[in-house]
Amino acid sequence: MANNSMFTSLAVKQRVIGHYKGKYNGPTLIFFGGIHGNEPAGVSALKKVFLSIKEHANDFKGELIALSGNLNALSKNIRFQQEDLNRIWADQRLESLDIKTKLGTLNAEEKEMQELYAMLLQILDSCEPPFYFIDLHTTSSDTIPFLIINDSLLNRKFTKNYPLPVILGIEEYLNGALLSYLNELGYVSIGFESGQHTSEEAVENAKNFIWYTLILTGFYNVHSSIFESVKQSILKAGNYQKKFFEIYFQRLVSSNESFQMQPGYTNFQDLTKGEIFAHDHNGAVISTHNTQIFMPLYQKSGNEAYYLIRPIPMLFLTVSKYVRRFRLDSVLTILPGVTRDSNDIHILRVNKRVARFLAKPIFHLLGYRARSQGEHHLILKSREYNSKLAMYKNAPWFT
Ligand SMILES: [Zn+2]
Repeated sequence: MANNSMFTSLAVKQRVIGHYKGKYNGPTLIFFGGIHGNEPAGVSALKKVFLSIKEHANDFKGELIALSGNLNALSKNIRFQQEDLNRIWADQRLESLDIKTKLGTLNAEEKEMQELYAMLLQILDSCEPPFYFIDLHTTSSDTIPFLIINDSLLNRKFTKNYPLPVILGIEEYLNGALLSYLNELGYVSIGFESGQHTSEEAVENAKNFIWYTLILTGFYNVHSSIFESVKQSILKAGNYQKKFFEIYFQRLVSSNESFQMQPGYTNFQDLTKGEIFAHDHNGAVISTHNTQIFMPLYQKSGNEAYYLIRPIPMLFLTVSKYVRRFRLDSVLTILPGVTRDSNDIHILRVNKRVARFLAKPIFHLLGYRARSQGEHHLILKSREYNSKLAMYKNAPWFT
């Protein structure tokens, strides 16, 4: 049955695209659309799903909640008003909201975050685990659909079930993403990029993805043949041979710096050594090696010009699974220059001279991703310690 008793105030109701509670107990799925206001495809797709959801209601187990992200920016079709709502999810910022409310100094995005945060706390408090957080986005360039996750074993295990490429390690390059914040609380938390901002396929791909997720998590129980046909609809949108990729380079541009991609680059496109693919204040931007471009910037707002990615070898994925499971990271602190943070056991402080010898992939293997750099230290945070793995062990995909 439809159930909005949890979200009563008018302001909050505007944010609820749909809320459905199944007849039986089951997982809680929380979808976000339009965290970026110029990406309405996710919101449209969620609306479409909710329009046709009633006819399947007898088969639902658990609770499904769909929320709009940046309401103000969505109404203006801009990415954000004052700052990117997907770059401010940090404890310090959340803690400052009360004081800023009293002082009347909340900016447009902090107001959005405040409302979303209150709803999140309410959901975590009153809904049944396991929780799934799914953030729907689109890109400025053309793209096949793909998933983007923080590199935890739990996220890997869950996303392995999608017939989609998965990009790991975004948390090393972006601070304050909503899905990273939720991931650090230990929940399955994934981003889905469904296509180019304004393309019709972006809505269609997001809709198919949502249905697939409802089935995969056990919220919607269907015959395996139906699951297969939904899977085929996803595959049709872009079958990609390689499965897991990692980001290894990010090019940032400040708002007053010039940067212009050459036209026509799509996500995942190969770059060959010597290829001119963009121009900046120094002239041509040339690829120094054969690689693949990721999320090239084709819009005015946004500070990330492009990323470079590479496929992750199967062997690395397997080895890292075992070394993390057996907590082999504890051996790292035997090394000179590597200490555990005295306030947070999930954090390693690595002397920069030592970090030079211990290559990044070693830390990645052991489940650590760089968070920030001090003058002498590199700060790395474990993706595994908080993981609420046990919460998901009865899920249909968890084998
Ligand atoms: Zn986005």
